[in-house]
Amino acid sequence: MTDNLVFPAKPPVSAEIAGTEQRFPVNRIFCVGRNYLAHAAEMGVAVDKSTAEPFYFIKDSSTLVPSGATVAYPPKTANYHYEMEFVVAIGKEGFEVAEENAEDLIYGYACGLDMTRRDLQLKARESGRPWDLGKDFEESAVLSPIFRKEDVGVISDGKIELKVGDDVKQSSTLSLLIWNVREIIAHLSQFYHLQPGDLIYTGTPEGVGPVVAGDVITGSIDKLGDIKLTIA
Ligand code: MN
Repeated sequence: MTDNLVFPAKPPVSAEIAGTEQRFPVNRIFCVGRNYLAHAAEMGVAVDKSTAEPFYFIKDSSTLVPSGATVAYPPKTANYHYEMEFVVAIGKEGFEVAEENAEDLIYGYACGLDMTRRDLQLKARESGRPWDLGKDFEESAVLSPIFRKEDVGVISDGKIELKVGDDVKQSSTLSLLIWNVREIIAHLSQFYHLQPGDLIYTGTPEGVGPVVAGDVITGSIDKLGDIKLTIA
């Protein structure tokens, strides 16, 4: 099947799973926009859940880098931001999934960083253009090992925190998600056939900000260990 490729195909992208040598093959990376009220407010947007729907953007799986990596300051930005996020790893297919069945699709959970070229994102937003240049760029999706649901249980609350150096920049709780994990899976699966290997970055709490060369970012979520990224 693949011996006629004109150049070698890249190996599949996969992520570490805590407690096993097996790895999680990564399919798509969905990201939820504005899923904490205080973050939406700091971005200048009020969200009214009674009238709003969640929205999404996608990062290519090739943007994934593991926790502990050192990444270059990315090109064409002067405002490179961290966003600490709770990540859900999908382990089963699902389409038009009811909220009460949504947790069946979950393989596990992880800490993630949705690294963002904020200047490019805001420029796109202001001109009504897609966010890709601000969001979907090389080494922009950072992921900790995935903790299996069978090991940690269903997670719907817990502290989420991020530091740059020793300074706490983000500190919130998963219970403040505007749309919780069940609601996100139910909603997203109306638009996509969710597949094993899909990741969902569920959005960042308030306190986003810039990093510069030499910064070390560390983040943590209760029960899900921590995540680290160094800016070269
Ligand atoms: Mn984000």
